[in-house]
Amino acid sequence: MKIICVGRNYTAHIEELKNEKPKDPVLFLKPDTSILLRKQPFIIPEFSEDVQHEVEILVKINKMGKHIDRKFAHKYYDEIGLGIDFTARDLQTQLKEKGLPWEKAKGFDGATVIGDFIPKEEFKDVNNINFSLEKNGKVVQKGNTLLMLWKIEELIEYISKYFTLKIGDVIFTGTPSGVAKVFPNDTLSGFIENNELFSIKIK
Ligand code: ZN
Repeated sequence: MKIICVGRNYTAHIEELKNEKPKDPVLFLKPDTSILLRKQPFIIPEFSEDVQHEVEILVKINKMGKHIDRKFAHKYYDEIGLGIDFTARDLQTQLKEKGLPWEKAKGFDGATVIGDFIPKEEFKDVNNINFSLEKNGKVVQKGNTLLMLWKIEELIEYISKYFTLKIGDVIFTGTPSGVAKVFPNDTLSGFIENNELFSIKIK
């Protein structure tokens, strides 16, 4: 499986990182080896002084497709989840400044948290889903899919122009504002509406 991530999909997060608003979605991939194993803690890697959490809505692909029209995009997924795109922000900033690919900052072992999924039919409208991240019991990131610059079905259309989507692939749809550094002993818990979909200990 592959993990396709969307960068800069929420205006407030673009502003907090002082990035330009893109004309097209920013895409990057994370290797499957970056997935944090279930129930394992996230270990801060020694090569970063500033690993940050990015909570994101996930879409799990259930059918192979290429050049998917947005009209039919709803047929290519039936589960929505929540995860964290951990980012070594210091390393990413250095790489970005040099115009280099930023995989090392986002694709390292453990950098991808994939929580539980919820069947799509349980949502009245996938473009109006509240989600949040709590750090040690306090809300630190909050978003709603309504605020995405590119909505789920537009993303499926756009991504599938470049990458064939296969069963089991997961799309990370971008983070809202509130990204921040994690510290040892933090606990990060992710929620869609009131359902807790993961809880991760930092070491
Ligand atoms: Zn992200």
